[in-house]
Amino acid sequence: MNIQPTYSSLDYPGKMALVLFTPGCNLRCKYCHNPQLLKNQELTKWDIEEIEEEVENNMDFIDAIVLSGGEPLLHVDVIKNFIKQAKQNDLLVKLDTNGLHPEETKEILKDLDYVAMDIKAPLNKYYKISDMYPNNVEELITETIDIIMDNNVYLECRTTYVPKLLDPEDINELTRNLRCDRYTLQQFRNRVTLDASLSTYEEPNPEFLREILENLECQIPEIRLKSRQFGNQLIKKSN
Ligand code: SF4
Repeated sequence: MNIQPTYSSLDYPGKMALVLFTPGCNLRCKYCHNPQLLKNQELTKWDIEEIEEEVENNMDFIDAIVLSGGEPLLHVDVIKNFIKQAKQNDLLVKLDTNGLHPEETKEILKDLDYVAMDIKAPLNKYYKISDMYPNNVEELITETIDIIMDNNVYLECRTTYVPKLLDPEDINELTRNLRCDRYTLQQFRNRVTLDASLSTYEEPNPEFLREILENLECQIPEIRLKSRQFGNQLIKKSN
């Protein structure tokens, strides 16, 4: 099967979800921990039928489906089948995306309950993270955020903090005018990385990451930190 279904209680906050990892991505983040998913394979009607059967058989155990990858919006016509099935059965739908597909986001937005979008670096500094990216990253991501926020769909933005690739000022810069409901800084993990040289980078200390978040100059209502040592921690929340 070209879609890897996995059950998780961590990918949709507070819910048990079936996570569908679809193949293909138009970025090549040096730290990508799913490099096996980067090859864009076509999804067949067998893939669709197998997933629909998986959802059908496990309907009683799950609250949500999570469309993840890779970049699920590269297969927007296929994921529409899963969204339709989920909605017919009162399941929640979360999309994990790199934010580079505003038109496809618009096509499925009305059925989304939660979007988690990666903001890899300040929008004019994607060269720090990926050797491949569209030259209008800033325009695409800004448009995607506006579409989601203007339609009141819950938006979490996330950044993986990789030492040597990013610095604290990058996090300050990228969050300063960011529109979203929640921002999560994720600790870089060095176990599996697309660029093998990153496996020699140390995982950043959670205390150092916490300090970055405590000093942010932004208006985002909820700020969180995700680390191996402490899990998903609330750092700041405004009423
Ligand atoms: S956006 Fe980056 S981290 Fe995510 S799948 Fe694509 S290359 Fe990997």
